[in-house]
Amino acid sequence: MKKIGVLTSGGDSPGMNAAIRAVVRTAIYNGLEVAGIYRGYQGLLEGDIEPLTVSSVGDIIHRGGTMLRTARCLEFKEEEGFQRGLAMLKMFKIDGLVVIGGDGSFNGAKRLADAGFPTIGIPGTIDNDLAYTEFTLGFDTALTTVVNAIGNIRDTSSSHGRVNIIEVMGRHCGDIALYGGLAGGAEAVIIPEIDTDMDDLCQTILRGKKRGKLHSIILLAEGVGKPYEVAEQIKSKTGSDVKVSVIGYLQRGGTPTPSDRILGSRLGAYAVDQLIAGKAGRAIGIKGNQLVDIDISEALSMKKDYDKEIYELARILAI
Ligand code: ADP
Repeated sequence: MKKIGVLTSGGDSPGMNAAIRAVVRTAIYNGLEVAGIYRGYQGLLEGDIEPLTVSSVGDIIHRGGTMLRTARCLEFKEEEGFQRGLAMLKMFKIDGLVVIGGDGSFNGAKRLADAGFPTIGIPGTIDNDLAYTEFTLGFDTALTTVVNAIGNIRDTSSSHGRVNIIEVMGRHCGDIALYGGLAGGAEAVIIPEIDTDMDDLCQTILRGKKRGKLHSIILLAEGVGKPYEVAEQIKSKTGSDVKVSVIGYLQRGGTPTPSDRILGSRLGAYAVDQLIAGKAGRAIGIKGNQLVDIDISEALSMKKDYDKEIYELARILAI
C-alpha cells in the first residue's frame, strides 16, 4: 500500500474534518501518500482528486462540515458509473480508500470492497442510525445543538406557560430525540421506533401543570413527522397553547464537540491502521469506548434498535 484515498459522502456531519485530518496525518506518519477526493463519489467520477499534505489538514479540527465537501451521486450507483469510479482509483494509483459517510455511502464502499478494492468505512452521520457502532461521528455535536435549543425554547416557553414541540433530525432513527430529550429534561420523547400513547403523554402534561410547572417540552423525531398534527392533538386534549419548532439544518453544522473531535481522530487513525494491516471491506466504530471493526456487509445488514434503558429513564424522570 503506497497511496490511500479519502472522501466524505452523503450528508455531512461535524467531526468529519477531524477524521480527514487523522487519516491524512496517520498515513503520512506511516510513509504513505494521501489523495483527497472532493465531493464524494461524484468527485471520484470527475477525477476531482488532489494530493493532501500534513498542512492541507491544518486548522480544520474545529470546523463543522467537511473540507473535502460532499455530494450525492446517483451515477455511482449504476454499474457503468461504478466501473468508471474503480478505473479512476486505478488511474490515480490509489491502493486503498477511506469512505466517511452514512449507510448510503457505506453501500458504495461495500461495492468497492466486493469488487476487490480495499475500502474502509467511517460512520459519519449525526443520525446515530448504524447498529454496529454505539455512536456515529457528529451525533454528540448534534445533541449539543439540540440541548442548547431546548434551553432557549424553555426560557420563552416558561414565560408563556406553553407546550413546545421540538422536531429534531435523525431520519428513521429516534436517537437524537431520545438522548436529547433525556439530556434536556423533556417531558416526553416521541420516536418512530415505538408507538406513543397520546393520552398518557397528555396526562403527563396536565400533571405537570397541576404541580405548577410553567412549560412542557416534547421532543419529536423527524421519522415520526407531522409535528403540527401532534400539536393540534395536544391542544385539543389539554387546552394548552402548543407551539412547534423545527430545528432543521442547524443540527448539521457547528463546531464539533471535543467528543466528536476525539472520536473522529480515533476512527480516522484506525481506518488507516486497518488498510496498512491489509484489511478491507471493514466498517469501523466504537463500543464501550473501544474501537471495533466488522465486515461492512454485516454492518449494513444489522438492524438498529432504540435503547430501551434510556427511553424508560427519560419516561420515568418526566413523571
Ligand atoms: P448517506 O451516506 O449520508 O447515507 P446517501 O444515502 O445519499 O447518504 O448516500 C450517499 C452516496 O452513496 C449516494 O449518493 C451514492 O453516490 C452512494 N451510494 C449509495 N448507495 C449506493 C450503492 N448501492 N452503490 C454505489 N453507491 C451507492
